[in-house]
Amino acid sequence: MLFSWLRNRRRRTLLAEPFPVRWTTFLERNVGHYPRLPPTEQARLGNAIRVLVSEKRWRGRGGLFVTEEMRVTIAAQAALLLLGSERDFYPRVRDVIVFPTEFRTPVAGDDWEDDFLSETPSAGQAVDRGPVLLAWDAVLAEGREPHAGYNLVIHEFAHQLDFTHGITASVPDLGDRALETRWRYVMTVAFEDHRRAIRNNKADTFFTPHAADDEMEFFADATEAFYCRPADLKELHAEMYALLAAYYRVDPAAWFGTANDDEGNGFSVRL
Ligand SMILES: [Zn+2]
Repeated sequence: MLFSWLRNRRRRTLLAEPFPVRWTTFLERNVGHYPRLPPTEQARLGNAIRVLVSEKRWRGRGGLFVTEEMRVTIAAQAALLLLGSERDFYPRVRDVIVFPTEFRTPVAGDDWEDDFLSETPSAGQAVDRGPVLLAWDAVLAEGREPHAGYNLVIHEFAHQLDFTHGITASVPDLGDRALETRWRYVMTVAFEDHRRAIRNNKADTFFTPHAADDEMEFFADATEAFYCRPADLKELHAEMYALLAAYYRVDPAAWFGTANDDEGNGFSVRL
């Protein structure tokens, strides 16, 4: 209790300061969602960014020094998932570890610089009760291109919300019993449909092949679609859109206007 009192007092002090002007420049340059948000949501995003930048430990690997611009750019995309709710700020994530480019996944121990590395390089990973690992080049490219339909930071932080709140293990808090009753059915049917399509080598599925791996990947992928291809998701999976809107308490379709007409050029590998 004392800890949370101190933390809340520290947050109030932090948020009493004006939002740094140079940070707005970073957001305008690197976070394609930012200019699309209405002013009230921009302000809320700004507050969440400040808390995340201040409270997480930001670590560079592979020779990378994590600049203020990198912190703000990553925190902003992670904060999109916190925008509409009073949810805490990823309480179980202490470290955000940034690599210059794709990395082979380190394993726990030895401060995430272990000798044991995965075979396949990836651009991102979220560890349950551990860090989020990100490749800066993919963060920047996908942050600047929200229409591409993919967002590495959103994907990995959706995993962290899932780990913390048991979203795919049970049902998230939607503030509405009727919606909560629909959640499991709608998500399970969509996941099974997608899995079948991938198994049958169907081309051009709405969700990525990686989303067919398990429910956790499906939820992270659906979250990316919700934030980056909202009009398409709403059109193709209207009930899922409504459920995700109830969970995240935002309406990204209103930010983007009409259906996204430009397709992404492929996405980076994320775990
Ligand atoms: Zn994943």
